[in-house]
Amino acid sequence: MRDLLGGLLSLVAPLRCPGCDEPTAGSTVFCTSCTALIEPASDSGAVYEYGGPVADAIQRFKYDARSELGALLGSVMAEEASQWAGRVDAVVPVPLHWRRRRARGYDQAALLARPLASSLGVPALLRCLRRVRNTPSQVDLPHAERQRNIAGAFATSALHGVGRVLLVDDVRTTGATLGAASEALRAGGASEVHTFVLAARVLVQAT
Ligand SMILES: [Zn+2]
Repeated sequence: MRDLLGGLLSLVAPLRCPGCDEPTAGSTVFCTSCTALIEPASDSGAVYEYGGPVADAIQRFKYDARSELGALLGSVMAEEASQWAGRVDAVVPVPLHWRRRRARGYDQAALLARPLASSLGVPALLRCLRRVRNTPSQVDLPHAERQRNIAGAFATSALHGVGRVLLVDDVRTTGATLGAASEALRAGGASEVHTFVLAARVLVQAT
């Protein structure tokens, strides 16, 4: 019943820009003003550079209980995913630890993975990668400490012969989390692990 109601509401409610929450014309995900501020990523492993309206959208999605933004932001990733078509056998989201997922109510990377996987015509495997340690937040840690913090944090099960994996997350900062998750997938039998994120932070080298 709640799903039905949600479906009906989305039909009558105007589409809103995930960056500023203002109504949009509906032809693009982000509104015109936000689109003008958004930078594409400098590498093919990400859609956007992290910052501005993209950072605001991710903030809303993760910390303001706006799980409905997952389908929208996942559709943005799906549009940019043609490079992976025919090159991967499954999409695997970087999971939260169950304690954090329980606190948030959803796992953001899993919500991004679903539309992406369906656009590629491959399964989204939501249970084969698990976070076995509830690591402290990576946000304020320097790179070397991030790698120490995250090492051994993931375990795999039930890959069932899936060879080529597209590992998906919302944000890439140093790549330490994606690196640790990729390592676990390879140890679990994946032959290739490619990574794809919604937004990549541009790291400024300390001088
Ligand atoms: Zn906007």
